[in-house]
Amino acid sequence: MTQKKFETEAIRTQVERTNFLEHSNPLYLTSSFIFEDAEDMRASFSDEKQRNIYSRFSNPNTSELIDKICKMEEAESGFAFATGMAAVFSTFAALLSSGDHVVSASSVFGSTHSLFTKYFPKWHITTSYFNINEPETIESLIKPETKILYAESPTNPAIDIIDLELLGNIAKKHNLILIIDNCFATPYLQQPIKFGAHLVIHSATKLIDGQGRVLGGITVGNANLIKEIYLFSRNTGPALSPFNAWILSKSLETLPVRVDKHCENALKVAQFLENHSKVNWVKYPFLKSHPQYQVAKKQMKFGGNIVAFEVKDGIDGGRQFLNTIKMCSLSANLGDTRTIVTHPASTTHSSLEQDDRLKVNITDGLVRISVGLEHIDDIIADIEQALAT
Ligand SMILES: *Cc1c(COP(=O)(O)O)cnc(C)c1O
Repeated sequence: MTQKKFETEAIRTQVERTNFLEHSNPLYLTSSFIFEDAEDMRASFSDEKQRNIYSRFSNPNTSELIDKICKMEEAESGFAFATGMAAVFSTFAALLSSGDHVVSASSVFGSTHSLFTKYFPKWHITTSYFNINEPETIESLIKPETKILYAESPTNPAIDIIDLELLGNIAKKHNLILIIDNCFATPYLQQPIKFGAHLVIHSATKLIDGQGRVLGGITVGNANLIKEIYLFSRNTGPALSPFNAWILSKSLETLPVRVDKHCENALKVAQFLENHSKVNWVKYPFLKSHPQYQVAKKQMKFGGNIVAFEVKDGIDGGRQFLNTIKMCSLSANLGDTRTIVTHPASTTHSSLEQDDRLKVNITDGLVRISVGLEHIDDIIADIEQALAT
């Protein structure tokens, strides 16, 4: 059967119905599954049969979520994890050996950066970093032991964009595994596999859940690589719970309509900020002023829900903004129905020196807004009153 449209697959991809002929997929809260007889059990354990054995390996709810995201990303296969970080860690740990080398953008999610700097060196895995805005430097970092090329686009929190097609070409030329953390774009806005990525990672906690309820992560892509990741995870135990998988699969049914609206609201917020006298600059992928606007247009359907901008007066200005905002939440999550504002220089990135923050494009006055689904007039009114005081 040919694949249906994205919106239809998001709703109609479903595991087989039970004898009750339920319309919506039920929750399979079971740790294990039973066997018909000794032969069935033997064949299942030797992988001759594709079936559920134990929920650390697979479960109908997680299988449904994986199938859906595979269709959305046009991926062959996948594995679902308890958190986005479990997906990132398990993907690297399954594929890397002592002595291997990774080339990564320097502006990656904080905990991913900690894996590269604090933990992988313990296993003699080293990482070299490139500036996301200088992709021409990537090839000079590649060594014979380089195995993985890694990036996020758009980046957190500076909303920089990198050309995925260019990364795909570099990976192909040097025989590297290209892994993209596609969390900020979602599979609805951007499909890195089309540009040459071998694996795509998501923190499902963000726009995939979209309502700030559960944590989850997923890796999808090339079937041979996923097989390695599956075997590693089946033994080490980072599996997603069936309950969270059920929530996330339900959430995907509304992903296209939610993300359409998030993007519409975010573009309006970005346009409002661009014309505001108290704002130094605004970064949003679908504003013409974004340095990689053309690349964003090429690889993304819309600009996403995150807007970065700089208030005047640096750290104090950023803290002042957080203190005067009323409706928008101060919270670490993003991609929620509720609009969330953060000030990276005084919070998530405060342990870095100012110079190191600037290397990843985080200026003292940078504010990140995860634009939600409240009425746009109320979101803008809140931002406006906070900038006025
Ligand atoms: C949040 C996030 C993660 C980590 O996901 P968790 O579900 O919080 O573990 C990884 N990458 C990016 C880009 C994120 O925003």
